[in-house]
Amino acid sequence: MKECKDCLQLKSKDCFYVRYTTKDGLYSVCKECHKAKTKANKKYERKITVSVPNRCVPPWLTENDWEAIKRVYAESKALTEQTGVYHVVDHIYPMRGRTVSGLHVPSNLRVVPAVVNARKANKVLDTEETWV
Ligand SMILES: [Zn+2]
Repeated sequence: MKECKDCLQLKSKDCFYVRYTTKDGLYSVCKECHKAKTKANKKYERKITVSVPNRCVPPWLTENDWEAIKRVYAESKALTEQTGVYHVVDHIYPMRGRTVSGLHVPSNLRVVPAVVNARKANKVLDTEETWV
């Protein structure tokens, strides 16, 4: 059992999302409170726009491209909620890579568990199998 910091209710551990950066590996607020929060202040979306450097967003992106990008982020959110494993959108070619600079375009995006993305850091690896 774990107490939710928001609603202060004691809930079973599967009522909390997984967060690999915390000590017990779980969010401090329960899924319900977490959902309510992200819906209310849309912090999630704001973070995304801020974390993408302008130079990585090509001016030639079309409406369709933006829709595709939105879909990738929606997919990572849905996967996080469905599996309880924190998923993030990964740039296959990292935007801050040492030798290459990837672009914030649909073809350079994919959804991976956050743990995998952290391990990969800003490196480009030849095959998926080497890090998945
Ligand atoms: Zn709660």
